[in-house]
Amino acid sequence: MTPPVRKILHADCDCFYAAVEMRDNPSLRDIPLAVGGSREGRGVITTCNYPAREFGIHSAMPTARALRLCPQLTLVPPNFDKYRDVSAQIQAIFHELTPLVEPLSLDEAFLDVTDVQGFRGSATWMAQWIKAECLARTGITVSVGAAPSKFLAKIASDWEKPDGLTVIPPERVDTFVRELPVKKLHGVGPATGAKLDAMGIHHCDDLRAQPIDRLLDEFGKFGRRLYELSRGVDERPVRVERERKSISVETTFHHDLPDLASAREALVPLCEKLKARIERNGDPPQAGVFVKVRFDDFTTTTLESRGLEPGLESFWQLLDQAWARAHRPVRLLGVGVRLLSEEARQQLTLPL
Ligand SMILES: [Mg+2]
Repeated sequence: MTPPVRKILHADCDCFYAAVEMRDNPSLRDIPLAVGGSREGRGVITTCNYPAREFGIHSAMPTARALRLCPQLTLVPPNFDKYRDVSAQIQAIFHELTPLVEPLSLDEAFLDVTDVQGFRGSATWMAQWIKAECLARTGITVSVGAAPSKFLAKIASDWEKPDGLTVIPPERVDTFVRELPVKKLHGVGPATGAKLDAMGIHHCDDLRAQPIDRLLDEFGKFGRRLYELSRGVDERPVRVERERKSISVETTFHHDLPDLASAREALVPLCEKLKARIERNGDPPQAGVFVKVRFDDFTTTTLESRGLEPGLESFWQLLDQAWARAHRPVRLLGVGVRLLSEEARQQLTLPL
């Protein structure tokens, strides 16, 4: 027996932190607004509203750069306690619909609503209900995508943002995916995107024309994933109660970085991205930092330090040591933080 077609929702608040600030101070509503660290503290933008985006500002951008693009930008420091409260309210709404909720960050989650009996089983109605309840109870607009798989639900929630609702029913998956630009696929970053581009592969239809062997040759294990995604296949389940163990970002470079100096330089934007990602996750308590380096011969080394703070100096220090292990050109760099486990966190707050 074939399993029933799944119904997956991806719900994602629109410019969440900025939306909370605008809700609490309506005078910020129609002016360019960003939530982030200060220019003096070498901070980055965590979230910005749509008027700010018109100036080309986006999350993970250094605040100094954002202020050059838009000198009249209003900058608000993040208030994570407040965002965590609103997030808890929104997650509670998701849980009224189904226990199968997988939060991805404070403002984003997958829901498996395949077995939900209410709403006559209509994913569209469920999505409408989520949007209405979130707005009524928290004042925040949410974009929702509905589809038979996670990667399509996520693409769908982004399709008509802000305040969007996009449904990709099973019978439309094939047509939808055919015309989908490959850069929209889960896991296709700038390097893979450029490579596909150079191979003349722009849409999933082009990807489908490729034999699996060629994709495996060119992309390794990820070739199989590309083969499947371009056919709309993504069996990843919605995972409940996953405890996050780390937050990290990594980049594969178009051209290998020849020496340590260029690797050190490439670490700067990565650290900014990491900082923004940590903030998007509500700045959880951390236990240490790590650097991952893959060399041109595909050997990979990870160096980790428990006590260090996630600043550029710490990552440089680890990179220097990691690079000394091989002295080779660098293909991939990653930086991340280990999170304190829930257990360790509770022990910290227990009375002695
Ligand atoms: Mg969001």
